Formats: sequence, C-alpha cells, structure tokens
Amino acid sequence: MRIAIIGAGASGMTAAITAAASGTNEVLLFERQARVGRKLLATGNGRCNLTNRQAAPGRYHGSTPDFVRPALDAFPVDSTLDFFQTLGLYTVTEPGGRVYPYSDQANSVVDVLRFALSRRNIQLKTGTEITSVKRGGQGFRLKDQNGACYEAERLIVACGGAAGTKLGGGLSGYQLLRSLGHHCTKLYPSLVQLKTDPELVRGLKGVRANAALRLSLRGALLAEARGEVQFTDYGVSGPAVFDLSRAAATTENCELNLNLLPDYREEDLLSALCIRISRFPALEAGDLLTGILHNRLGRMLVSACGVRLNTPLTSLNWKQLNDVVERCHALSLTVTGTMGMEGAQVTAGGIVTGEFDPATLQSRIVPGLYATGEVLDVDGDCGGFNLQWAWSSGLLAGQLKSNHEARPAQQT
Ligand SMILES: Cc1cc2nc3c(=O)[nH]c(=O)nc-3n(C[C@H](O)[C@H](O)[C@H](O)COP(=O)(O)OP(=O)(O)OC[C@H]3O[C@@H](n4cnc5c(N)ncnc54)[C@H](O)[C@@H]3O)c2cc1C
Repeated sequence: MRIAIIGAGASGMTAAITAAASGTNEVLLFERQARVGRKLLATGNGRCNLTNRQAAPGRYHGSTPDFVRPALDAFPVDSTLDFFQTLGLYTVTEPGGRVYPYSDQANSVVDVLRFALSRRNIQLKTGTEITSVKRGGQGFRLKDQNGACYEAERLIVACGGAAGTKLGGGLSGYQLLRSLGHHCTKLYPSLVQLKTDPELVRGLKGVRANAALRLSLRGALLAEARGEVQFTDYGVSGPAVFDLSRAAATTENCELNLNLLPDYREEDLLSALCIRISRFPALEAGDLLTGILHNRLGRMLVSACGVRLNTPLTSLNWKQLNDVVERCHALSLTVTGTMGMEGAQVTAGGIVTGEFDPATLQSRIVPGLYATGEVLDVDGDCGGFNLQWAWSSGLLAGQLKSNHEARPAQQT
C-alpha cells in the first residue's frame, strides 16, 4: 500500500518508521524544510526532553483530553523508550521524570530517527511543501509547491501546530485538514512567555527566582504553579510561568501574583528585617533584602513600595517595613499578553478530536486519512509531555488500523 505522510517532525517520522516496518508498504514522507526534525533540535533547550515518566491523560488539555488515552495506552513511555532503544538511542531519566538523551544533545534523537528513515521503502522528500490534498484516484492526490502531484491510498497529516513559527510551526496542517472537511478550534499559544506591565520588571532582565505563582481574574483563581521564574524586559518566562501560560493565553486581563519567598512566613521575614536594622543601622533601604533575594529584585521590591533606596534603614517606619514584607509575598503583575506563537512551545487548540477515532487516529469523516501530534486539539504540560503525545500518536497512526479493526471507539 502507498502511504503519504506530510511532515517529517516528531510524529511524522515515527509514523513513517512504523508504517514502513511491515516491508509491504511504500512510504512517501514530505518535509517542507531542508532537513527533518528541525523543531526537535530546538527542544529542551537543545537537549530534547523527549518524554516524561509521568505521562498520563491528566497531563493533557484540549476539548477532550481523554482523547490521548488509547494512544498512550498502546504506546506508553516504556514502549516508546524501547522503540528509541531499538533505534540506538541511550536515554537518562532526571529527578521529576523528565527523560533526555544520554548524550544531552537533541541531535542524537534526530540522528537515530534519520538513520531509521533510510530504508528502501521510505522515500523522503525534503524541501517539498504539500500545498493541496484532494480525495481522488485510489485515495488521495497531493500537490507540492512546484505543482508536482503524488498519489497515495492512505494519508497521515503530521504537520505539527502553529507554535514555534521560526522552527517550522505554521497553519498548513490545519488548512489541509479543513480542505478535507475537518474543523478547527480557535488556536492559542501555550507554554509561552508572558508579557506584563513593563514598569516593574524592566530592570530585572536576567534575574531568576523561585516563586509560588497564582494567576487570577478579578479575584478568581485560574491556575497555580511553583518553580523557577525568569524576568525579562517584556515580562516573565521560565518553567513555572509556562505552566500557567495556557490559562493566561486564553483569558484576557489576568493578574499574576508572585510569592517570592514561599518558604518563609511574613512574620519571620519581618523579625529578620528588624534584626538587620538594629544590627546594621548604617545600611540604607537598598540593602534591606540583601542576602534574602537577588539584589536587583530586592531593590525593585523596596522601590515599588515607594521607599527611596538611599533612605537610612533606621528611618523606615513600621508601615513601610510591612509593605516590603507583603510585596515579597505578593508581587502583583498585570498580564498584558503572551509572546505569541513565535515564542510558544505548543499550540492549544487544533483540529477537532471528536472527528477522529482515538483508537486508530483515523478520520471519522474521510476514510484512509489519519492525523497525529500537535495539529490535533491536544496540548500537554511542560516537561516532555508534548513529545510523548507526538511519539505515541505517530506510532499508533503508523499502524494504519481501520476504525472497525480497533476496539470500539471511545466517546470523545
Ligand atoms: C522551542 C521549543 C521547545 C520545545 N521543547 C519541548 C520539549 O523539550 N519537550 C516536549 O515534549 N516538547 C517540546 N516542544 C514541543 C514539541 O516539539 C512539539 O509538540 C512536537 O514537535 C510536535 O510534533 P509534531 O510531529 O506534531 O510536529 P513537528 O515536530 O512540529 O513536525 C511537523 C513537521 O511538518 C512539517 N510541515 C508542516 N506543514 C507541511 C507541509 N504542508 N508540507 C511538508 N511539510 C510540512 C514542518 O516543517 C515540521 O517539520 C518544544 C517546542 C518548541 C517550539
């Protein structure tokens, strides 16, 4: 059987390797970029956090998060790592469950996939963008940017999502699937940096802090996270911010509250500051939080309370001290937006999952059509979950099961 796969990213490559494994299929794999797996090379800051030991449906989002269950059941983390081991990849699990290549280099993951693609029954066509797909002939007729046509009996759309625009993210997959009769939800950037009111953060570029974060809208809590925050000239970034970013991207005018000393009670901080003032009366307010927080962050918090940094510590009054203590435990920033699809790691939203059978990933609308990875309305938490979905969905779709061959489709 002739199989066309559009997109040689994470899910497209695993689908191609699986589809070709039987030896009886002929696979045509199209990639519009000059090389395969370009986005993969940038993942995990160049280290590729390829999965997470805690991958489970609860770590995924979308209109029907349980849609991922059959694929994760069929190809859970262990069998995905077995798959990679058979390709020759050594991996290591870090505390917290994140899995990386033992080499610590994302290109190791791309290289072993690339080796596995060099089989006689896989034709890889890089630099080839599929611009239209029609049902016809024995299945599907595809056309590339130069007008060349290809025919295939089965089609897997593995074009990825809109996130990471500079690394190949785009709208192509959504457009191709819509042209075949599928529907797409609204798209939002997720796992993305947040823009905030620049006034407070501008001078903090490069500062990192461990904080407890609360995102709220008019007092109602939307999401919570804890971990590293990185301040930038436009706002905040870092793993804890990414964890909240989905909620921030889909809601306007939210407030981000940072507790910069989540391990210390307000009354304990207050008494520590009083001791500092009595021991070092010659110090100025700019040094009130020295030794407790990053110096630039400490000075910003003191200034944000309206205290001049050259005020002698002994001149601070009780209210000013209390204000600083409160501000350390509740720095409030107005979220004005996100860094958009360009800065995002994943797209929230996508092709409506109810239109696909989760047990096969075959379309319920167009027989012989499959979709994998980020183009579907599935997005995962930060920490290797999105790549696990890409691998599991690619491995499942690559089996090219018919909907009636699979166990009864789950309600989605
Ligand atoms: C900076 C960054 C860091 C990330 N880090 C991590 C991480 O550490 N761990 C994690 O789990 N996830 C991470 N992600 C998310 C993860 O990379 C994606 O969710 C995953 O790659 C999606 O896999 P996919 O197969 O759906 O799409 P992709 O891997 O994006 O592949 C889609 C491919 O299709 C090609 N294509 C698109 N349209 C066409 C067309 N019309 N014709 C031909 N080719 C086409 C694209 O060029 C692309 O190569 C990161 C994302 C980014 C942007």
